[in-house]
Amino acid sequence: YAAKARTAGAQVYDPATDSSSATNLSLLSELRHALDHQELRLFLQPKIHLASGRAIAAEALVRWQHPQRGLVPPMLFIPFAEQTGFIRRLTLWIFEETARVQPALQRLGVQRISVNLSTRDLLDQELPDKLDALLRRHGALPEAFCLEITESAIMDDPQRAEATLNRLSERGYKLSIDDFGTGYSSLAYLKRLPVDELKIDKSFVMAMEGEAGDAKIVRSTIDLAHNLGLTVVAEGVENAAILEQLRLLHCDEAQGYHMSKPLPVPEFEAWVVKWAAQAPHAAASAAALG
Ligand code: C2E
Ligand code: MG
Ligand code: MG
Ligand code: MG
Repeated sequence: YAAKARTAGAQVYDPATDSSSATNLSLLSELRHALDHQELRLFLQPKIHLASGRAIAAEALVRWQHPQRGLVPPMLFIPFAEQTGFIRRLTLWIFEETARVQPALQRLGVQRISVNLSTRDLLDQELPDKLDALLRRHGALPEAFCLEITESAIMDDPQRAEATLNRLSERGYKLSIDDFGTGYSSLAYLKRLPVDELKIDKSFVMAMEGEAGDAKIVRSTIDLAHNLGLTVVAEGVENAAILEQLRLLHCDEAQGYHMSKPLPVPEFEAWVVKWAAQAPHAAASAAALG
């Protein structure tokens, strides 16, 4: 019976399309197995500081290197991990992997690494203590980490989220609102929460070339962020024209396939070294644009 359930899970693999408890149990045990057997992988994607052209930050993104299915993208298991609460273990794992490599990345000029948090993480009152304990073990500082949270994760239970975010901020972690513009934005909360950064969702950034409306949303979000004293990051930058537009709009940082896809850590480090050799050119062209 267990073998049959595993097969069903293998065919579907999207828990949203098969909610039978046998399949879900199977997926949960597969995820546990993956974590214990080093099948989960930390990938990193660079964020470029537009004024200097330097790769000053990165986002940690999880991948599942499945022995049979190959590389499984997070959208196929993160929502399930969130539903079951497994996400808490996953978050601590990705944070620990990130803390492990952070000092080496700092030496390459990558000053800050972002880690994604989910609703469940925000409801965990002990999260700040757990993160601090991990950092102490690896000799890393909270200031080198940014925690990305979506609007919907915050609005799920705004009071508890606010309490957790306040404590994280007091300890020195930077906080970012991810996928900004796609959730139920409450500008009142935005003003009130100890947030440092807004990330414009890639749906707006990818469409800003062709759609005047999207370009206006991007421009307005950049202005909103700056008026609130926040750093603003554009995700989903897929070509040079959009990168240039963002630079002209004084967007602070950009992330996207045009610079690099998310990479395994050794490839990421090699990418940063290569990029640094070209960065003076990028800085010069940014300066020339005024
Ligand atoms: P996100 O946090 O908004 O991450 C950005 C996503 O956009 C990543 O997808 C990244 O690969 C993708 N992306 C970046 N630049 C481009 C681009 O130029 N074009 C396109 N088409 N896509 C681009 P990914 O890695 O598949 O992750 C999807 C989502 O899964 C993430 O969205 C995040 O919500 C979640 N996720 C990934 N890793 C973790 C994790 O470790 N923990 C948690 N809680 N969630 C994670
Ligand atoms: Mg993110
Ligand atoms: Mg995002
Ligand atoms: Mg997203």
